[in-house]
Amino acid sequence: MLITNGTLVTWEDPNRILSDYALYIEDGVIKTIGPTRALMARYPQAERLDAGGQLVMPGNICAHTHFYGAYARGMAIPGPAPENFPQILERLWWPLDKALDKDTVRLSALVSLVDAVKHGTTTLIDHHASPNFIEGSLDAIADVVDWAGLRAVLCYEVTDRDGEEKMRAGIAENVRFIGENEHPLIAGTFGLHASLTLGDATLESCAEALPADVGVHVHVAEHEADEADSLRRCGRRVVERLDEYGLWGDKTIAAHCVHIDERERQILADTGTWVSHQPRSNMNNAVGAMAFDAMVAQGMKICLGNDGFSNNMWAEWKDAYLLHKVVNRDPRRANGADIARVAAYNNARLAECFFPDTRLGMLVEGAAADIILVDYHPYTPMTEGNLPWHIVFGFEASMVTTTIVDGNILMRDRQLLTLDEPAIAAEALELAPRVWERYQANVAAITHR
Ligand SMILES: [Zn+2]
Repeated sequence: MLITNGTLVTWEDPNRILSDYALYIEDGVIKTIGPTRALMARYPQAERLDAGGQLVMPGNICAHTHFYGAYARGMAIPGPAPENFPQILERLWWPLDKALDKDTVRLSALVSLVDAVKHGTTTLIDHHASPNFIEGSLDAIADVVDWAGLRAVLCYEVTDRDGEEKMRAGIAENVRFIGENEHPLIAGTFGLHASLTLGDATLESCAEALPADVGVHVHVAEHEADEADSLRRCGRRVVERLDEYGLWGDKTIAAHCVHIDERERQILADTGTWVSHQPRSNMNNAVGAMAFDAMVAQGMKICLGNDGFSNNMWAEWKDAYLLHKVVNRDPRRANGADIARVAAYNNARLAECFFPDTRLGMLVEGAAADIILVDYHPYTPMTEGNLPWHIVFGFEASMVTTTIVDGNILMRDRQLLTLDEPAIAAEALELAPRVWERYQANVAAITHR
């Protein structure tokens, strides 16, 4: 396939913007990049996709999400509104994940994938929980990711909160999926909920079960409660506690890290651990803001996720850009270039850890053809230098018209080609009342405990 008449944003380092360029794609890979006329002469027989002057960019990557949260949309939490994040976990997320069965795990993923294709997010790193459907849950998700045609990294969150048997089943699901997975666009990693729901014996079991060369995907200090719990358990903070089990490293994702201190930051920096930032979620849960600029200055590998919010990653760019300014009352914080470093470059390098033979998030010869077309027409000069500010102030996910993964077109001119959105939404909607009923019953069970 030959994509012609595009303005390429290559996200090479340094970035390049190339007008009236074309890309020739073969076997899921970008084979040649060059001026439109030259490539049209070189590949006269190729199937053409005329970008018509739109931007042609690498697809967006999400470093941390939860497909399983889809049924929370519009759902009422019974009783008085939760006052803090621990209450949100206990009264929203934990009773909801228990309400999911095989069909609703599948549909939660499907609706999230529809959303991802429409918003131009081509790689998703998911963190899954469904305590009443653990074994095979990652296969159920993988099957629909395959169907959608997207790229994903999957794991199951191990936790002690549902007893030892389910904790062991969670470990087994991670190990099984990592070992058995043969989906070419899917990788497995090892999920852990968070220090506050993981006892020492469980962490020991996870460290033993962890396959060689695999890291973990874990929430870290999203709220102060995680740190307080760790200090109570062992007198050390969360990052120091998990360090004892050898869980940090360049294949591990530590999500949030809102309340870690300078020493913990240093451990994550020294071990090359990825730290994913989810500004919309942090604002919604009122947990505070990570020390973004200090982390950048310390050389930490910060990435950008959405924590189950919409797969509109430019919304996360914008909120990261704004959040640190208002929290610190300092308009110099979270510079646009730093946001681009995090969201474009670091996310791509993180994704490549899971697909070691594949170059992602970059338009270069030999890279995966994970590409979006964006109908954005700048009315001021747009250069490599100021692109981050065009994205923050000008880009909307609704401008994504075409989404391509591994050389396959998943959406063309805003028409989804692999997924039937109305049918998927209707099927999810049909099951929603039962999910909400089971959720309500689970909340009532906690309240009357
Ligand atoms: Zn999360």
